[in-house]
Amino acid sequence: MTNLVIFYYLKKYFFIFINFAPQFKIMNEKRTEVASLGEFGLIRQLTNQIELRQPSTIKGIGDDAAIISLADNKCMVVSTDMLTEGIHFDLMYVPLKHLGYKSVVVNVSDIYAMNAIPTQITVSIAISNRFSVEALEELYAGINAACKEYNVDLVGGDTTSSLKGLVISITAIGEVQKEKITYRNTAKIGDLICCTGDLGAAYLGLQILEREKQLYLSDPNTKPDLENQQYLIGRQLKPEARKDFIEMFEKNKLIPTSMIDISDGLASELHHICSQSGVGAIVEESGVPIHPDAELMAIKFNLDPITCALNGGEDYELLFTIDPSDTEKIKYLPDVYIMGEIVAASEGIQLHTKGGNIHKILAQGWVHF
Ligand code: ADP
Ligand code: MG
Repeated sequence: MTNLVIFYYLKKYFFIFINFAPQFKIMNEKRTEVASLGEFGLIRQLTNQIELRQPSTIKGIGDDAAIISLADNKCMVVSTDMLTEGIHFDLMYVPLKHLGYKSVVVNVSDIYAMNAIPTQITVSIAISNRFSVEALEELYAGINAACKEYNVDLVGGDTTSSLKGLVISITAIGEVQKEKITYRNTAKIGDLICCTGDLGAAYLGLQILEREKQLYLSDPNTKPDLENQQYLIGRQLKPEARKDFIEMFEKNKLIPTSMIDISDGLASELHHICSQSGVGAIVEESGVPIHPDAELMAIKFNLDPITCALNGGEDYELLFTIDPSDTEKIKYLPDVYIMGEIVAASEGIQLHTKGGNIHKILAQGWVHF
């Protein structure tokens, strides 16, 4: 009600608000829950009226990063990611230094997913009075360590307060030659589906940390038992972006036909590539790389290892497709796995299990809302 009175006076005295009035009216009449659209539906709904006006904008919304053309066939690549306390991280088990490191990794990973090299980042934080200077210095020690590892410069940002909790928003900037850019929407029928590293481990690391948190909350005297699972917990707390692969692609003169980084889980990313490229996919369960520690831990948690690999998320590996004629270029590379093939859209997105069954792969991934 107060809002309405304020809007009335704003409308009366400030011409500029007149144009805004119908939107406020709609807000009062109709209410759609964000949850009914989901994250990607919401982004589509909010941005479907956005028009690109600058000829230099080569790619706007819809990929891992935006592409802006510069002189000499070069392009600038820009991506932003925001991490919110309680949603993306839990400070009960995430050390601030690791959080700083990971915040940079998730951003440079989106730059690599375009086959580009990250060069600069900006860091914005919203902090409550719960955080001391020393605590924030820890966060920045992690940010700094990642800048060193990925050879990027921290060139600015913003600092503001929040009522409670910590929010970190990072923008990464990178560069790439125009002809080397790898989009999500350019996979073709017959292409091979490949991925780097192994999948599902970060999710299982999270399950261990969550389990120990719950045990601690029910009895603060219990000593955490991380079961010597350095690999799984490391994959969750200190992921790395696959800079090495972008360098390897360059060295082997390979340009994937499409690429995306695996932040939300293989299933979700495969859906992005397939829906945007207008194709389908067949994935062989036997081709999906799962670390033995992840396999064992999944069974311990009563989970199916392949489900963890498909829907776990936060592995920050690269999912990419290649023309079959490029197979020789990746065949002997370490840590790269061919897991399937791009097929016609009419075939959908399928998993062929080791037991000979065919399942539809659903786009689960993380549900934020
Ligand atoms: P990723 O998982 O690779 O970080 P997202 O799923 O977050 O990508 O985003 C998909 C696309 O939507 C990107 O192009 C991103 O820039 C864009 N996007 C996300 N949120 C917004 C927003 N609030 N306004 C405009 N564009 C957005
Ligand atoms: Mg991405």
